[in-house]
Amino acid sequence: MKKIRFLPSSEIALLVGLLKKHKDWRKECINLIASENVMSPLAERVYLSDLMHRYAEGLPFKRYYQGLRYIDEIENLVINEFKNHFKCNFVDLRPISGTLANLAVFSASAKKGDKIITLGIQGGSHISHEEMGAAGILGLKVYHFDFDQKMDIDLKKAEKKILKLKPKFIVLGGSLITFPYPVKELKEICQKTKTKIIYDAAHVFGLISAGFFQNPLKEGADIITASTHKTFPGPQGGIILGNIDEKLQKEIQKKVFPGLISNHHLHRIPALYITLKEMEKFGKDYGRQIIKNAKTLAKALYSFGFKVLGKEKGFTESHQISVDVKKLGGGDSVAKTLEKANIILNKNILPWDKLDPKNPFGIRIGVQEMTRFGMKEKEMAEIAKFIKEVILDQKRPEEIKKKVIKFRKNFQKIKYCFSL
Ligand SMILES: *Cc1c(COP(=O)(O)O)cnc(C)c1O
Repeated sequence: MKKIRFLPSSEIALLVGLLKKHKDWRKECINLIASENVMSPLAERVYLSDLMHRYAEGLPFKRYYQGLRYIDEIENLVINEFKNHFKCNFVDLRPISGTLANLAVFSASAKKGDKIITLGIQGGSHISHEEMGAAGILGLKVYHFDFDQKMDIDLKKAEKKILKLKPKFIVLGGSLITFPYPVKELKEICQKTKTKIIYDAAHVFGLISAGFFQNPLKEGADIITASTHKTFPGPQGGIILGNIDEKLQKEIQKKVFPGLISNHHLHRIPALYITLKEMEKFGKDYGRQIIKNAKTLAKALYSFGFKVLGKEKGFTESHQISVDVKKLGGGDSVAKTLEKANIILNKNILPWDKLDPKNPFGIRIGVQEMTRFGMKEKEMAEIAKFIKEVILDQKRPEEIKKKVIKFRKNFQKIKYCFSL
């Protein structure tokens, strides 16, 4: 935000002051929220444009309003770029959030009373997959996969469940996502019941676009839904991609508009393009460093005695780590204590949790944003130490905060992007 010199009233001064406080504070924090990221300076530059004032209902060159000749070209260009990049025949970038992308795809793929199978909140799924969220709003009957000791989907039980329930679709991918899913194996089973595989890549979309994590479309998923602002460091929004027949394409498009949204916040679209181009150029380095950092942080925390999940599998293959902090006061208290030291992360439900969203057993950590600010393995070791000092050594968070502020000073510039 550019500095505003003239503040017409004290209320406005208050608001502008709060914005500045937020910005200054966040610059002094280690942000480990796994679902956040920052746009590049160039993406931010094109984000603030006249497009934010315009309406463009419908699809490029088939609109309901006039005045869109350049917007049509822009949107078309970006759709084609995503099709090329992900080697798919269908892209809809109009959903303004990942949840709306799910709602559109789910409603195009099933109707009230139909059965679906998801990971379940304890298995890492997102609320939109569940009866309390989008799937429930649509009246879908939600069943869950069973997991084995290692927290992998139990394929034998999955086969039985799929053959018995004949679900319209299954949803893979979640908000707690550290290892790939057996898409290929499930595809073989799903083909027997004409069950679609919808892969919610909200968290790992950036990693996938850079060639890391699993590529769901290559492995047999029918559709990917995603957010465009988690490991994919673009503007906040949603996207749908797939290799699907024309009938389903049309069905999804109809659910998006006129079904769920009218205008789709057009200023996102140029920023989305810049982010894709930057990921094509810098994504390999960015993605590789994210995964190295996540593994390093996990190992360091484990070595201090934290109960980091997934040790036998190498802790993580994504940007995320999860830690069981039940014995340390639970996720809620740990997250709040760390915030006092300017370390920002969130509490999270774990597979063996007692489903109390107020104080679940776990915390979730994501390294994608700090990686984008240039942090590497050495810095991950430092972060682990800060967390240890606050939580295990119970040093005063205010003391550690001072160290965190000093540490963060050297990591203010966004990397892995074109320079302005
Ligand atoms: C974050 C998330 C979403 C929702 O994304 P929004 O863009 O916030 O609506 C959907 N699915 C998963 C798995 C997520 O983690």
